[in-house]
Amino acid sequence: MTTGSTLLLTFDGLRRDRVSAELMPNLFRFMAEGCNFLNSRSIFPSETRVAVTSTMTGSPPGAHGVVANQFIHAVRPNELFRTSEWEDLELAAQAGQLLDCQTMGERMARAGRTMAVVSTATRGASRMMNSSAHVLGQPVFSVHGMPVSTPDVHEAVVAQLGEIPPADAPNSARVTYATTALMDVIYPRHKPDFCIFWMNEPDTSSHKFGVLGVETELAQRMADENFGRIMAWWHAGNGPENIVVMSDHGQITGHAQLETLDIIPAEFGRASIGSFSGIYLDDASNARKAEVVDWLVQQDFCGLVFASDAEGEAIPGALPWSSVRNDHARGADVGFTLSATNCNDTWGPDVDGCIFAAWITPGGGMHGGLNRGELSTVLAAQGPAYRRAFQSDVPCWLPDIIPTVLTTMGLTTEGSEGRPLVEALVGDDPRFGRMPAVETRTLSAERHGHEQYLRQWVIEGKTIVDYGWTEGTGAWGK
Ligand SMILES: [Zn+2]
Repeated sequence: MTTGSTLLLTFDGLRRDRVSAELMPNLFRFMAEGCNFLNSRSIFPSETRVAVTSTMTGSPPGAHGVVANQFIHAVRPNELFRTSEWEDLELAAQAGQLLDCQTMGERMARAGRTMAVVSTATRGASRMMNSSAHVLGQPVFSVHGMPVSTPDVHEAVVAQLGEIPPADAPNSARVTYATTALMDVIYPRHKPDFCIFWMNEPDTSSHKFGVLGVETELAQRMADENFGRIMAWWHAGNGPENIVVMSDHGQITGHAQLETLDIIPAEFGRASIGSFSGIYLDDASNARKAEVVDWLVQQDFCGLVFASDAEGEAIPGALPWSSVRNDHARGADVGFTLSATNCNDTWGPDVDGCIFAAWITPGGGMHGGLNRGELSTVLAAQGPAYRRAFQSDVPCWLPDIIPTVLTTMGLTTEGSEGRPLVEALVGDDPRFGRMPAVETRTLSAERHGHEQYLRQWVIEGKTIVDYGWTEGTGAWGK
């Protein structure tokens, strides 16, 4: 392993305000003793595969093009393109239309360094951690086996640890198994300069049992115990120089399900409905976009609305796609979130809520939108590259993580839109330890009494979304 070697470890779906000394003592200590990024955020939409891709490319969806967990893609124009499915991603990859940005895997290969993936996430999310791993000959271990895993890595893990246990919620057996695979097989076998380890908890349990569910707390404790095993192994001198810990988004409570997913008039065009929804118009003129926005803001289910004209300016009643850094040619003409609580006034795991589209039951956790509970993530780091016991309140988000890791490795960040979090770094580089200036602003739009707001930070000319909410006739529970 070379200088700056890093393990990036993820707790999927962990809200920052759910980390406590009681529930997650190992993570709590890691955050207190290391560098803790108090204002870390996810991306929009706050969905796992969008988050993974934004992390691994160091760029937001507007640059990389994985604009939602599911959307309408030219390679499957008449069906939904599902980023959870290996087949769909493979189809896009073969057409050269999966990603518009360099990935960390490609950067490591170019620099002659090694990268490994160890994942308990879905097939699609695991693929997006290193989308061209197989082509590049970089090792992947997924609990789903082939084709996600590299065959020889899969065989080596199973030969040493036995068969992969079945999935469950909490997913204790699989997460524990994968943790052992990381420490006992992947590191000794591959000595990766960069490794990503993904725990799919507490996300899975939180969806099923709720953000504050007893089983979700068990999942948090279980994931933290495995993190504790990794910390003991690392403190004994094993593994990488640095450890960065993140979550990809939080969750809020789903209160009521849409009765049907057919909520968009067929004459508008094709639609992908979720926590975040996209409409691909048959007629994408500015006038038609304005008509659709007009209709949307009068619907009970509607939260924030996004639509841009050809110049990238907002359609009346909507916010422009650029405001959420999701302006991409593969994106929808008009997008919207489902109605959610106003996180500007009061927020917290016990009050945040939303309408949801499908597959969870009321009381279960959901994410994808712009509520603060969905966007506020965990980000912390320890190791020789990072300041110790340092609390940084400089806002940051998922696309900043890989540029920071690359900087600690002495490699270029060119081609990524994220910002190396230099304020957190130690070393001879004159940029290190310097805090950037932060500006705050709130964007708004109004139509037929439906009000929407988006709070942003601006750092070095680039924006990060803090959170968004609706009021007026668009208010929650009106
Ligand atoms: Zn996730």
